[in-house]
Amino acid sequence: GPLVRAEQLVKTHRGEGTAPVHAVRGVDLNVQPGEFVAVTGPSGAGKSTLLHLVGGLQRPDSGGLWLDGERVDAYGEARWALLRRRRIGIVFQFFNLVSNLTVADNVELPALLAGVPAADARASRAELLAELGLEGRERSMPGELSGGEQQRVALARALVNHPALLLADEPAGSLDSKGTREVLRLLGRFHERGQTILMVTHDARTASAADRVISFFDGQIADDAPLGGSRRGG
Ligand code: ADP
Ligand code: ADP
Repeated sequence: GPLVRAEQLVKTHRGEGTAPVHAVRGVDLNVQPGEFVAVTGPSGAGKSTLLHLVGGLQRPDSGGLWLDGERVDAYGEARWALLRRRRIGIVFQFFNLVSNLTVADNVELPALLAGVPAADARASRAELLAELGLEGRERSMPGELSGGEQQRVALARALVNHPALLLADEPAGSLDSKGTREVLRLLGRFHERGQTILMVTHDARTASAADRVISFFDGQIADDAPLGGSRRGG
């Protein structure tokens, strides 16, 4: 069955003294294991909100959400934290690295929090950083790296616990064209090895790195199509 299944997900942001914002208005979505899905659409369409719902960073007002067949939409913060630690990696537009930890410590942290023995966390970290072209950067601080390098560190951190699902929120949104190409190439490479990826982006070129592109508009799916030449279909 699908790795992600959403049925009629609804999320309205309600601020004090402001009109409610209907960010996600009844979304049905299936993501199959191994798919690389991009959700694209204009700023304000509700893409980030949708990603936050799938990653448990926000709760839906109504609708159902299943991860690998397990219904999770009513999970509380503690269960979500556990689920994210074990099953979901997330990369954000602005990397969100811990600025006072080294590159190595940033990447190892989720493994240690998940109870992985320190020696295994070190080995996974070393392997991922080498794979991402960051050998020799272990002792650097995030602020000493370029944006593209920081996003690669964030990618290593997101993947260190071998998550079933990788979520990416505008992963190239603060990178120059070289950094963008590099990060998209790496996402594509992990995808080729079977990593399931759900990415949201307003940028059509970034979206075209995926093999299925969902157009999102005004809180709803407007179109859902595999790219030409896809082996997996929609
Ligand atoms: P929820 O609506 O799920 O309760 P929060 O109110 O916790 O979400 O907001 C999540 C984050 O989004 C907060 O950091 C908040 O400051 C930020 N935020 C608030 N208003 C907006 C807005 N209009 N657009 C984007 N982000 C916003
Ligand atoms: P996108 O990622 O497509 O730019 P978002 O999901 O960030 O869209 O935002 C969708 C709408 O919801 C926007 O109008 C945004 O201002 C609003 N919004 C997002 N988060 C919040 C929040 N926490 N509180 C209030 N409004 C929000």
